[in-house]
Amino acid sequence: MQLPQAVLDIIQALERAGFEGYAVGGCVRDNLMGRPPHDWDICTNAQPAAIQACMAPCPMLTNGIKHGTVGVIIQGQVYEITTYRVDGAYRDHRHPAGVCYVDALQPDLARRDFTINAMAYHPMYGLVDPFGGRQDIALKRIRAVGDAMERFEEDGLRILRGIRLASELGFSIEENTRLAMGQKKHLLACLARERIWAELSRWLMGTAAAQTLAGFPDILNQILPGIAGGPEWDELVHAIGRAPARLAVRLALLICRRPGRAGEWLDTLRPSRALRSQVLQIAGHIGQCPKAPADALYLIARTGEQTARDIAAANIALGIPGAQPFLSLIETLLAGQPCYRIDQLAVDGGDLMRLGIPRGPQIGRVLALLLDGVIRGEWSNNREALLAQAQKLMPA
Ligand code: ATP
Ligand code: MG
Repeated sequence: MQLPQAVLDIIQALERAGFEGYAVGGCVRDNLMGRPPHDWDICTNAQPAAIQACMAPCPMLTNGIKHGTVGVIIQGQVYEITTYRVDGAYRDHRHPAGVCYVDALQPDLARRDFTINAMAYHPMYGLVDPFGGRQDIALKRIRAVGDAMERFEEDGLRILRGIRLASELGFSIEENTRLAMGQKKHLLACLARERIWAELSRWLMGTAAAQTLAGFPDILNQILPGIAGGPEWDELVHAIGRAPARLAVRLALLICRRPGRAGEWLDTLRPSRALRSQVLQIAGHIGQCPKAPADALYLIARTGEQTARDIAAANIALGIPGAQPFLSLIETLLAGQPCYRIDQLAVDGGDLMRLGIPRGPQIGRVLALLLDGVIRGEWSNNREALLAQAQKLMPA
């Protein structure tokens, strides 16, 4: 396994001061799977003050220090170095009442959620894998470390982390772990919405989104009551799996069957305002695939170019007749850099005033009529044509 130079340097700095250091968790998992890890975590028996001393003079982030984590910045990238710890009793099925530093790697690995996340790697000693994580990677399965029921009881977020990982990695969920997820699903009610959203959005974007959505309707219903199940559910799940990996499209498909409840579900998830509005626009245009260029341009004008493409993609995923030609029409139109907004017209308000149209609402009205003619193909978007039309449209 190839560790980045920065990680090797950190381990060496810790060891020079008499401590241990290992790469740990998701980065080891991703590396074994041949996926580029998105962050590198290091664990050590050094406590935070000692970590800071070892890593000086690197810039450091200390906001995680009460959990034993120091973020070290090397060449603009943050590496989290965390003291070996075990969690104290859990307060609220999410947060341990306290963390307890320990001197050995093994108990630190044992507090982690899934076997594939409970491995460490050292450049000289190799892989430390006490729970069979490497085998589970080979078997493509998510399995809780230790007693699954207990692990979810401690922290309900692990239920969603497990399904999200299965969706992202294309893994199945080992039987006991899966059963425990179902039994402990009520604990999802204890989670902060942001955490639910962070996991559910990644779940929806995973390569195995369709399989995992189909496999866990009860978990989804626990988060978003009434969303899963019913006659068209299977079809919808397949559509999500077929859809491009665009969150707006996949979320729109998820909520589109029940327009009356979409707002409530989105209130629970709280996506950004921009995403929420895209999702509602896509969901509101399911089944609508205009054939006429002018109608497609009106739609692009209302929703924006990307959302128009997303509407077509959602309709294609659902197998709506006419959806594929609609997407082709959008692409053809956009390739021609069409005019569908007033600010894209070859004339502006100043030009109209110079023609003698008085400043005021009249200007806006004439511009809107000019745009309408351009969209309908009645005249083209060039200055002379538009000025000639404006003259005809001028109030007597
Ligand atoms: P990714 O980086 O792809 O989101 P990850 O597994 O690395 O996945 P992180 O949030 O980066 O997720 O967590 C790093 C490691 O910390 C995990 O691999 C796991 O060992 C441990 N971990 C994270 N969250 C939990 C949790 N809720 N319960 C137990 N261990 C956890
Ligand atoms: Mg990670």
